[in-house]
Amino acid sequence: MEYKIAVIKGDGIGPEIVTEAMKVLDKTGEKFGHTFIFTEVLAGGAAIDATGNCLPDKTVAICKASDSVLLGAVGGPKYDTQPPANRPEKALLGLREQLGLFANIRPAKMYKALADACPIKESIIGSGFDITVVRELTGDVYFGKKMRTEENGMVVGHDDMNYSVPEVVRIARRAFEMAMVRSKKVTSVDKANVLETSRVWRETVTKVAAEYPDVQLEHMYVDNAAMQLVRNPGQFDVMVTGNLFGDILSDEASMITGSIGMLPSASLGEANPGMYEPIHGSAPDIAGKSLANPIATILSCAMMLKYSFGLETESAAIEAAVEAALNSGARTADIAKAGEHVLSTSEMGSLICKQL
Ligand code: NAD
Repeated sequence: MEYKIAVIKGDGIGPEIVTEAMKVLDKTGEKFGHTFIFTEVLAGGAAIDATGNCLPDKTVAICKASDSVLLGAVGGPKYDTQPPANRPEKALLGLREQLGLFANIRPAKMYKALADACPIKESIIGSGFDITVVRELTGDVYFGKKMRTEENGMVVGHDDMNYSVPEVVRIARRAFEMAMVRSKKVTSVDKANVLETSRVWRETVTKVAAEYPDVQLEHMYVDNAAMQLVRNPGQFDVMVTGNLFGDILSDEASMITGSIGMLPSASLGEANPGMYEPIHGSAPDIAGKSLANPIATILSCAMMLKYSFGLETESAAIEAAVEAALNSGARTADIAKAGEHVLSTSEMGSLICKQL
């Protein structure tokens, strides 16, 4: 099969990590008989340098015409003086909007070989955890009406929090479908004891659950969920929540794995193309030094193969190659303990290709 992938290498460490991810995709294609056709396009700081615009129309057109989008990271101090509408991060929002990406999927998995990096006590972690956070990405308080009023001589800020039933239905279905191929458990997180938006969320998720009788659904208030994530992360499998709560909880879930350079993500809409990227930023402090860990980007490609192309075996092969490399002691600087041998970005990419 042939798959067209739009590639946005981006800024900072973006080009270094994406180059390794492309190497791994090529190796996977060679092993399983697929061809991945890459078209490099510009977004973020690199696009501002080349065209003055953080998200050129040509980039959007090529992304829309591709089967999938692979992104490194955008941004950096050089662009801090750009006007808000042309900041590199605006390119990401623009892409999500243009591609209709309403579901952000973030796995947070603890690798046994990296258990030392987990900031939670071993007695709590037990046999580890493997959580997938499904965050709604295009609604909620971030997209509600914003305004300032003046009351009794004081300025008051307002952000309207809202969710419509169809918005909740489509993200809930994503979560239940994901749970069907995992351990069939969904935790829906809201604040239904206080917020009307959350009451609509909870009622709707409960109705959608009836379509998936094999999946166990539990509801949890967001404050409790934040607590439970550090008290007993192993209890969660698929966690579905709105944009605001998901923003915070997905970062919390990521950080308890202890290694930002390891965590992939997918942003999905109703149809292809999805967008796949590491959860970290452009790490300007280590850019150009061959210190970046490419694993988050490589695992994002594994998600792409599974969710956009339906290539489950190929996706699992990449995940297994990463795990084998870690088990063999391969470490980039961010995950190495003092005194351990440190691999460069491209050495780690090559080793994962070799494991494949
Ligand atoms: P960051 O994620 O870039 O870096 C935080 C820390 O983690 C740094 O010490 C960095 O060296 C380290 N780190 C990150 N990725 C790593 C990797 N793969 N391997 C090893 N170490 C890694 O966050 P930041 O410093 O807050 O942001 C830097 C820039 O990135 C900013 O301009 C920010 O706006 C942008 N950013 C972009 C995205 C994106 O493109 N999706 C996301 C977050 C931040």
